[in-house]
Amino acid sequence: MTADTEAELSEPPSLHALDAFNSQPFEHLDLFTPGAAGPAKRRARPPRPATRTVERFPESAASRAFRRKHFPEASAADWGDWRWQIRNRIRTLAQLEDVFALSDDERAAISRHHGSLPVGITPYYASLMSADDSQEPLRRTHIPVGDEYVRAPGEADDPLHEDDDTQVPGLVHRYPDRVLFLATGFCSTYCRYCTRSRMVGEPGGEYSFSKSQWERAIAYIADHPEVRDVLISGGDPLTLADDRLDDLLTRLRAIPHVEFLRIGSKVPCVLPMRITRSLVRVLRRHRVWLSIHFTHPAELTPETMTACDRLADAGIPLGSQTVLLKDVNDDAAVLKELFHGLLVRRVRPYYLYQCDPITGSSHFRTSVDRGIEIMRQLRGFTTGYAVPTYVIDAPEGGGKIPLLPDYVVGRDGGDLLLTNYAGGLFRYPDPEGTLGAGRRTGEAP
Ligand code: SF4
Repeated sequence: MTADTEAELSEPPSLHALDAFNSQPFEHLDLFTPGAAGPAKRRARPPRPATRTVERFPESAASRAFRRKHFPEASAADWGDWRWQIRNRIRTLAQLEDVFALSDDERAAISRHHGSLPVGITPYYASLMSADDSQEPLRRTHIPVGDEYVRAPGEADDPLHEDDDTQVPGLVHRYPDRVLFLATGFCSTYCRYCTRSRMVGEPGGEYSFSKSQWERAIAYIADHPEVRDVLISGGDPLTLADDRLDDLLTRLRAIPHVEFLRIGSKVPCVLPMRITRSLVRVLRRHRVWLSIHFTHPAELTPETMTACDRLADAGIPLGSQTVLLKDVNDDAAVLKELFHGLLVRRVRPYYLYQCDPITGSSHFRTSVDRGIEIMRQLRGFTTGYAVPTYVIDAPEGGGKIPLLPDYVVGRDGGDLLLTNYAGGLFRYPDPEGTLGAGRRTGEAP
C-alpha cells in the first residue's frame, strides 16, 4: 500500500495535514447488504459545508492565564477548538523549552528520542503541568527522562503479547467473545508508560493504520459470530474526525452479533474540548461505553467536568482506567482524591492497573505490595463506587488478574474467620465451606 492509495490513520505527517487528513473521503466495502459481496460499493455522502463551525468550550481562569502567557496570538475560541489544540501540540525541544524549565536529564532524553512514542502534549494539558518542577506528577508522565532508555529484566516492547493474538493487522482476538480494534496510532498526547509505545505516534512505521486495514478487521469480526464485544482503542480513537468515527461505529453496529461497543480514550483528560456536542451525538447514537484514562487529581479541572457532564448527560456510561505509577499516584490519599473527583464527574473508577513491564518503564513501576496496601487503604474507607478493581494484566497474554488484600483470617470448625477494613475480627457461619482451613483458628470472637 502507498500513501497515495491509502489514508494513513496514524500520526499526520505535519501539523498542517490534520485537517486534510480528517476531511479525506472515507469509502468502504458494503459488506452487510445481502448480495453485496464482491466489488466495493460507494456510498453517497452529502457535500461538506464550506466553513466549519467551532463550538465554544468554556475556558478556566488557569487555562486563560497560560494561553495569554504562552500562546498570546491565540483567541479563547482557538483554545477551545480541539483541532487548534492538536495543531499546536508541544512536540520539539524548543517548544518544550518555551514552556518548561527543563532539567538536564529531560533535555538529554528529549534530544536522544527517535521513533515511536514521540513527545506530544496539548497546550491545554501542558497548562496543568509545573513549569519548574521536573518531579511534578503530570510532567513526569509526559516528558521523557533518561530512565526511559533503561531496559530492566522482564521488560518487553510487547509484554502482553498482543502481536501474537493479532488475527489481521490492527485486530487483537484473545478472548473468545471480544476483540481489541486498534483504530489509529495517533494520540493527542503521548504517555511515557504507554503499553502500546511500540506502535503509537510513528507514521509509516512497522505498525500502520489505514482504511483497508479497517476493512479487514471489520470483515474478520463479521466472520466470527462469537465476537459480541468490540473495544476500540489505539492510539486514541477520539482523535478521529466525527464522520470517520461515525462510519466505523456504523459498520460495527451493522454486524448482528456485535452487541457491545466501547472506546478507550485519554481525550477527555488531555483534550476535553474534543467532547463536542456533535461527537457526543455520534457516541450516543451508537450506544457506546467510554473508558477514560485518568491518572491524577490534577486532571480534575473545570474543563474535564464540562467534558464528562456532556457525556454523562447524554447517557454514555463512563468508566476510568488508571495506571498505578510510582511517584505519580502511588498514594492512597492521591488516588482517593482522584476517585472522588471522578464520581463527582459521574465516572466510575473501574480498573487500577499495575503498570505493564513495557521497555523503559522501571521508573514508573511500583511493587505489587504497594498496590495491595493502597487497596487496603481504600476499601471500607470510602464509597464502594470509588474503589476500582486492582489488576495485573499478566505478561505473555495471560489476561487481567484481580488482586485484593486478603481478608480471610482462618477457619474455626464451621465458622469462617474474617477481618474487616478496620482490623476487627468476625465469624461467618459457613458450615459447608473449607476456605481458611489450615490458617489460624479460634482467635475470632
Ligand atoms: S493516550 Fe493511551 S494510547 Fe496514547 S500514549 Fe497515552 S496510554 Fe498510549
